[in-house]
Amino acid sequence: MPEFKGLIRSKLPTAGTTIFSIMSGLAQQTGAINLSQGFPDFPVSEELMRLVYENMRKGHNQYAPMPGLLSLRERIAEKMERRFGAKYNPETEITITAGGTQALYAAITALIHEEDEVIVIEPAYDSYNPAIELAGGKAVHVNLEPPDYKVAWAKVKKLITPKTKMILINSPHNPTGAVLTEEDMQQLDELTRANDIIVLSDEVYEHIIFDGLQHNSVAKYPSLAQRSMIVYSFGKTFHATGWKCGYCVGPANLMKEFRKVHQFMVFSVNTPLQFALEEYMREPAHYNGLEKFYQEKRDYFRSLLEGSAFKILPCSGSYFQLLDYSALSNEKDTDYAIRLTKEYGIASIPVSVFYNVPRDYHLLRFCFAKSNETLEKAAACLHKVKA
Ligand code: PMP
Repeated sequence: MPEFKGLIRSKLPTAGTTIFSIMSGLAQQTGAINLSQGFPDFPVSEELMRLVYENMRKGHNQYAPMPGLLSLRERIAEKMERRFGAKYNPETEITITAGGTQALYAAITALIHEEDEVIVIEPAYDSYNPAIELAGGKAVHVNLEPPDYKVAWAKVKKLITPKTKMILINSPHNPTGAVLTEEDMQQLDELTRANDIIVLSDEVYEHIIFDGLQHNSVAKYPSLAQRSMIVYSFGKTFHATGWKCGYCVGPANLMKEFRKVHQFMVFSVNTPLQFALEEYMREPAHYNGLEKFYQEKRDYFRSLLEGSAFKILPCSGSYFQLLDYSALSNEKDTDYAIRLTKEYGIASIPVSVFYNVPRDYHLLRFCFAKSNETLEKAAACLHKVKA
């Protein structure tokens, strides 16, 4: 096809192919074990798949209502009340989305205007900054430092200006595995209450949290909840990232604006999946056992890595483990991740790419949402790595 001859003014001039596609592509080309992109390699529950098929057979194949199937929103409202003591009205305060990413994008597009400032805590999931940029807003970054990645709230406070409209938080956190504590939530509450700032809370890993820690949803704190939009993903909770289905909850006046954007982005989301998820969610055990399942994965992967030259960082949640390779090399993390893939057959994600201005602490992120066999193979590769 001959290319377009006119002027193209890129709206995202610095965006290229994401590192996730690059590393997954390289893993495929080289036959390396792929612990780079965050997706499970074990199957979706047979029962859930059967429910999707049955609902297709029943004829649930046409457009769902714009905010999502009401009965599914009712199940979500029940879950939010049981887990966090928060009452959300399924009619007006819950919307089903095409995954967490679309929910984040719709929330930012709906609520951020030209010149508005959004505080982004980095390292961060890579969709936040482009969404803010496309809305005409300005991302203002505050960095977390290894190894514990605590939010320095005093630093956040200094970044607040009259233009600050939103703060984005993510707990359990991708890529660091850090989780926000009750004290963090109190600090967040104080700062945002005093300045009328909207909180966009990315809680897609809500069920992947370890060592008896409780997920501190903003929904647990009434004063935070009233100014928060919260994003969840069925993909993470039900091992089905490829289904791209999630939801957003928040107070009716914020949700009203969210839906105005949502209806013109996707209008509505995959109907048979929504019917199936509604039936599946009637049994809370279908999502409540996930902490234990993933803690076993984390512990197994960490035990397999003992005695390797990599330093294992703490991991309290999410399905990502950071490894420090500074005893092995001084190379840039992006170069080192590529070399490990090509020479040792193991693909990871360099952590510097999660920063707006890359910060290289010689750390790589490995996804442990994998079968034990895959984790064993991955660990065997990592044990072979020498300085
Ligand atoms: N937020 C974070 C922190 C994530 O890691 C991801 C997925 N990698 C998402 C949101 C997006 O979720 P989904 O796949 O449902 O769009």
